Amino acid sequence: MFLSRWNRTRHSKLMEDRVKHWIWRSFFSLALLAQAALAIDIDRKAPFLGNDEIDVSHYGLRMDFTDLDDSPVKVVAELDVRALSDLNQLKLHTSQQSKIESVVLEGAALPFTIVDGESQSRILKVELPKAVAKGAQFKLTVTLETDAFKRHLWRGHRMRNTESWPYKARNWLPSNDSPQDPASFTIEMHVPAGTVAAANGLLRGENYLQGEPDKENPNRRVFHWTQKQPIPTYGLNVVVGGDGFRPYVGRLSFDENGQRTSQEKAKFSVPVVYYDNGTLPAEIEESLQAYIFFTIHLGKSPYDKLGFVSAPHFSSMESPTLVTLISSQHVVHEIVHDWFGNGIQFRKWNDFWLSEGFTSYMTGFYSEVTTGRNTAKLDKVDKKTLNPAGAEADPLGQFFGTSTPYYKGAAAVADFRRLLAQQLKVETGSEEERARFLSVLSKLYQERKDTPLSSEAFVEWARKDMAEYLATRYQADPQKTAEWVEEWKARWLKL
Ligand SMILES: [Zn+2]
Repeated sequence: MFLSRWNRTRHSKLMEDRVKHWIWRSFFSLALLAQAALAIDIDRKAPFLGNDEIDVSHYGLRMDFTDLDDSPVKVVAELDVRALSDLNQLKLHTSQQSKIESVVLEGAALPFTIVDGESQSRILKVELPKAVAKGAQFKLTVTLETDAFKRHLWRGHRMRNTESWPYKARNWLPSNDSPQDPASFTIEMHVPAGTVAAANGLLRGENYLQGEPDKENPNRRVFHWTQKQPIPTYGLNVVVGGDGFRPYVGRLSFDENGQRTSQEKAKFSVPVVYYDNGTLPAEIEESLQAYIFFTIHLGKSPYDKLGFVSAPHFSSMESPTLVTLISSQHVVHEIVHDWFGNGIQFRKWNDFWLSEGFTSYMTGFYSEVTTGRNTAKLDKVDKKTLNPAGAEADPLGQFFGTSTPYYKGAAAVADFRRLLAQQLKVETGSEEERARFLSVLSKLYQERKDTPLSSEAFVEWARKDMAEYLATRYQADPQKTAEWVEEWKARWLKL
């Protein structure tokens, strides 16, 4: 997500209940005390918390859009759930924007209740017919109607979309709506003929303009998306549009030196889809060089599509394989997220700086390499803000509404780079130093891209794995590495 002055104001507005903050805050301090002894329950009025009792590995969605106006969208969601503890009851995030019609487990409809959570949050509680043992897996089907997909007129197109960040996927999808529980998705979108549907993942049949005929209704089309690499629920992006809303479909193919080439000769090749009026703006085309740069230096992105949609949203948003752009100036930042935030995911919201801090810094770093000037806005660090990893203790005041994870996160990464250069006795900004810094980040990316990363695990990685790597590759003393990592941690993170 790209932070601008405009969307910072919107961030504050986003949290409608900010005035209740002080009540909530004192409550949450107590909850934090309890955290050491027991996992925090998702119905303790803390909407950003995940449910530690379950792991949803896959969501299979069918969505029916009747029109580009205000009709509710019908959603049938099939969840593949694994119990992480013994369960008598199952809890999922939902919201007042959804009307849940049924919950079915193995063919039997189950009784459920909806209880209030904070803000727009609701908790769907499902009574299980018999206890489910830890480790057991089951499929649950939830049918609902949602008002979350608002109609918009955007650049002349009638469109419908919604927000999923930071915990708004629950508005239309009963889910474990937290970065700690990424999942794979299939999204089957039924839309009126003549409208275009876009979502995360690859499209069956690859007809991005028309999808496939809907066997159930000749006046409708269907688009089948498969997002096979797990993504967090906040990264979900589902858009429909008409009136000239069209995809540009192309391909980015390049060799191991970063030179563009044909698909046949390419070492790396990825489909590029951009939804707006069927053409790709020159500014976006140019920014694709950043994708090439980071692929060459950090390794292949986990995702098999480079997708963008021009759509109304409170900010540009890095949704994996379907980035929302409110301005084409944000493309490089959102591309960098394919490695930081989407590639290396973060575990809890207080680890959010791992996504935005690294992305903001590396966007500046890319600029340093291509233009000689680092644009990471390190001068904007507000000395009064909390340390990035203190955010979960006070997310409404210090996290969602502030620049802390971005600017202070970027400053923490810059300091990490400085200390690394110092130890390796290379001058910051020299070609050799850049190469070494990138080699360390590549190592981090290769080793930590598969499981959401916590701030603690990052420090642990730096202290042990990175130290070992620096010793082998650059003959750096691992004891010295551990010392500066400790110093860095003390300066930036409250762990
Ligand atoms: Zn971002």
